[in-house]
Amino acid sequence: MIRQVSNGWSEDCGVIAVYRAGGAAAELVHRGLFALQHRGQEAAGIVALGPNGELHHLKGRGLVADCLPTYKVAKLPGTKAIGHVRYSTVPADRSENIQPFVATTPYGRLAIAHNGNLKNFEALRSDLESKGSLLSTSMDTEVMAHLVARSGAATFEQAFQLAARSMVGAYSLTMLSHGRLLGLRDPNGVRPLVIGKLKDGDSGWVIASETCALDALEAEFVREVEPGELVEIGPEGVLGRQLLAPSRRAPCVFELVYFARPDSTVFGKGVHTARTAMGEELARQDAEENPQVRPDVVVPIPDSGFPAAIGYARKSGIDLEKAIIRSHYIGRTFILPDQDSRTHSVRLKLSVIREAVRGKRVVLVDDSIVRGNTSRLIVRMVREAGAREVWMRIASPPLAWPCYLGIDTPSREELVINQRSSVAGVEKFIEADNLRYLTVAGLKRAAGSDQYCFGCMTGDYPV
Ligand code: 5GP
Ligand code: MG
Repeated sequence: MIRQVSNGWSEDCGVIAVYRAGGAAAELVHRGLFALQHRGQEAAGIVALGPNGELHHLKGRGLVADCLPTYKVAKLPGTKAIGHVRYSTVPADRSENIQPFVATTPYGRLAIAHNGNLKNFEALRSDLESKGSLLSTSMDTEVMAHLVARSGAATFEQAFQLAARSMVGAYSLTMLSHGRLLGLRDPNGVRPLVIGKLKDGDSGWVIASETCALDALEAEFVREVEPGELVEIGPEGVLGRQLLAPSRRAPCVFELVYFARPDSTVFGKGVHTARTAMGEELARQDAEENPQVRPDVVVPIPDSGFPAAIGYARKSGIDLEKAIIRSHYIGRTFILPDQDSRTHSVRLKLSVIREAVRGKRVVLVDDSIVRGNTSRLIVRMVREAGAREVWMRIASPPLAWPCYLGIDTPSREELVINQRSSVAGVEKFIEADNLRYLTVAGLKRAAGSDQYCFGCMTGDYPV
């Protein structure tokens, strides 16, 4: 969504749309948002279509359970609704930035929920402002709405086609446009978007960021929305058309590495399977490098390191120990601003079981290192708990480049691999006895394809 590379704030999000013939579509959107909560904890919103074409809006800051109470959702009418969970690295201090974004256009009332980010947002915004557009939010999503509204085209579809010519970036969208329920994916297909069918006495359709949201609704997976495809769901079923010419297919590999939920299938690939394969690749790398010296125990860093650790243990035959436990009562620590509070919150969130690591050569497995602060603390905690050696294995290549397409990787300078210039430098910083990352080739094998965006690892972006 929003990206301001200079001070490092941006968003990654989850989106959903539901058509439910029997009404109360918003209830299902609500349930789907719970399943997509990992894609954004900052804010959430639902827009439902009322009987006279009016839009009913419910939104708030924080977790779905807190800001979208069930009794309020129950009052949202209609057979069509969309929803959004928003992630940003800095608290959403402007409530108008909470999605879905709602506007009046020449094509009727429009509500948009957006996952992704426009790379040329700043340029588009200044251009619109110089032409007299009054922007009420700091979201690229609003910029899209303006481009559509100003296009002068005869239909909404044509308007979006024209608008898309100047949109550079990633967008998986769900929309309510003049009473129609739509989903759209950018021409590179950077962010996921899938279609499902309601079943078991419920009749209707779902479009969502991830299949885990379909599972939560007991909906059946039908297919992905194709890159550049516009999909409409309603009483007629699913109507898809290629609205924008597809470009180089470049789904985000970081969805497989970290972002998506392990029970989802994204880009046609089971996330858990991909992550365990990444761990197997790491074990293979270690066995090739030094078959003589092996760790005593494989320890996942919760929660994101689990699948890769399972793969490492399976491939190497070394025992897996759940030696680091995570409190489920502490929220996310990643975004806390200062080092001191981060240190405290990691120690509140994670703790080490001494007898599981004491005297042992421990190999820790995690999905990625960003700034290195968490990793450094965990290495220290495991050593304090009595480990003889602490190895660190990372199931992705070093993150050396920012993402312009919707993941919150910080600026180049903040990424620890750039700060410490080399893997050896990071190894020293996190105080591990040794550190190894997965290679790009290994990641491609684990992901089953090289047709991904590896921009945050290689600096080579699709747009
Ligand atoms: P670091 O050692 O860089 O401070 O933290 C590494 C941890 O951050 C890893 O466990 C990884 O799962 C997690 N991580 C990577 N990307 C993101 C992200 O975009 N958001 C959050 N909350 N955590 C992330
Ligand atoms: Mg993690």
